[in-house]
Amino acid sequence: MDNIHAKATRSDEGAFVRFMTSVTGDELGSIPYERQDKAVRALTPWPLINIAQPDFEVVAEDALEGASHVELRRQLEWLGYAESGDVIISRLRDHANGEDVMVRSRYLIAADGAGGAIRDAAGIALEGMADIAHNVMIHFEGDLRGLVGDRPAILYFIFGEAIGSVLIAYDLGKTWVLMHPYDPATTTLADFTDDVCARMISTAIGQNVDITIKGARTWSMCAQVASTYRTKNVFLVGDAAHRFPPTGGLGLNTGIGDIQNLAWKIAAVEHGWGGKGLLDSYGDERQHVARSNMGQSVGNALKIALVYQALGQEMRQPVNRDELDKRLADPAHRNAIAACIAMQAEHFDSLRLQLGYVYGDHRDIDAGTPINVYVPKAIVGACLPHAVLAGGGSTLDLIDAGGFTILAGAASGHWEKLLERSTVPLRLLVEGRDFQLASGKWSQTVTLGADGALLVRPDRHLLHVARDANADEAAAMEAALKDYLKILAGGKV
Ligand SMILES: Cc1cc2nc3c(=O)[nH]c(=O)nc-3n(C[C@H](O)[C@H](O)[C@H](O)COP(=O)(O)OP(=O)(O)OC[C@H]3O[C@@H](n4cnc5c(N)ncnc54)[C@H](O)[C@@H]3O)c2cc1C
Repeated sequence: MDNIHAKATRSDEGAFVRFMTSVTGDELGSIPYERQDKAVRALTPWPLINIAQPDFEVVAEDALEGASHVELRRQLEWLGYAESGDVIISRLRDHANGEDVMVRSRYLIAADGAGGAIRDAAGIALEGMADIAHNVMIHFEGDLRGLVGDRPAILYFIFGEAIGSVLIAYDLGKTWVLMHPYDPATTTLADFTDDVCARMISTAIGQNVDITIKGARTWSMCAQVASTYRTKNVFLVGDAAHRFPPTGGLGLNTGIGDIQNLAWKIAAVEHGWGGKGLLDSYGDERQHVARSNMGQSVGNALKIALVYQALGQEMRQPVNRDELDKRLADPAHRNAIAACIAMQAEHFDSLRLQLGYVYGDHRDIDAGTPINVYVPKAIVGACLPHAVLAGGGSTLDLIDAGGFTILAGAASGHWEKLLERSTVPLRLLVEGRDFQLASGKWSQTVTLGADGALLVRPDRHLLHVARDANADEAAAMEAALKDYLKILAGGKV
């Protein structure tokens, strides 16, 4: 985690989104970017951070380098697969020597991104809208801290000469990205030469700047979720499973949630304490989250149109400068523009979507709650609520990714007996004996009776809530565990 924070956008510089005529021009309005205040820190020990994707990939790779069970190989291109029974043979091209390599596995996880080939090879269709808009993304480096002055932001939406441009400032002093729509019928990636890119950047900044173009790529905006996340032992995760507009910044987070959900289930089946049917719960749980996040991302993209309307501008058309200047000079119009910008707030404040998604029967429990309101709950399917532990850390740190955890308000023979007869990796942590909150009682925080207990999955979501400790509650907890893991009578899976 320290590594991520070291590379992340400075929180004092990434706290706002600004709507501008250019980065150095007139400011039309601003909105706080994903509250990073004390109130959020009471809800999670890990508030949102911004980090450029290449930097994040370095952090992820560093973490994997040390893992004894992971072999990290580069320059391999996956080409296709054949599946027979429990065996999958993948064919890969090793671009280091041009040779093909065959890899035998029991599972194939498609983490190959929005345009990945595995989904098609597995015959899984995407549902929703493809190619809604086309954008070029220009990565450049330059120290623009001085130009930005007292108007730092993580995102600048531009409505002047470079109308339609969005700038992402991962690091005001170095790393920037410019996004701009383009028409693939008239323009290709080759048209975005360094000179063209430099001109686009200068227009968006509002003056000529000393920068270095690091690269340009095109991407198309889609709003799609795969019709299924699994066929036999092939699983889709991340952008291979869902492609959203980037408006809302929910794409990567949704993908990480996918793999967090799937990984422990595959481990459970492989270690013999989960039945094969357990793997079906992966798609059931994660598709719903993707659909909800996609809906929000599309809604965010559409709502930006309100700002264009207030400014008298057409989306994907050159700026109408006369109309823009007229409206900016008129106080009534300025108020209307400010009101439309304020209406974008949800776009940049979606804590409930990020932390509050619930699996299973209660998944729509918060459907009517604003997406910026996350109220932790001790209900089945929700994420374990965070509370600060005496001595530091979070209740979330108590959870073992290799098995289930019972967090109990008080010691009880019923939980102990459950532990003794369990065929599943299960730990019991008792308040006062094994953990203590920095302030207050855990049982009260999660509104349980003093003897109550929570059964927590390896991915920190709740599988069962026992309000009391007695034989019936222990039997219900055990039944919930067996039912979810698809364990048959006699402990068989
Ligand atoms: C402009 C923009 C801004 C965004 N902003 C945010 C944001 O703020 N927050 C957020 O959460 N998300 C954001 N996203 C979305 C985020 O980038 C994606 O959701 C995320 O990168 C998906 O990760 P992934 O690992 O599933 O796929 P990818 O990142 O696409 O990775 C797939 C990998 O698979 C490799 N691959 C593909 N095919 C093969 C093959 N045949 N053989 C071998 N390797 C292969 C690719 O080279 C690539 O390395 C944004 C996206 C865009 C376009």
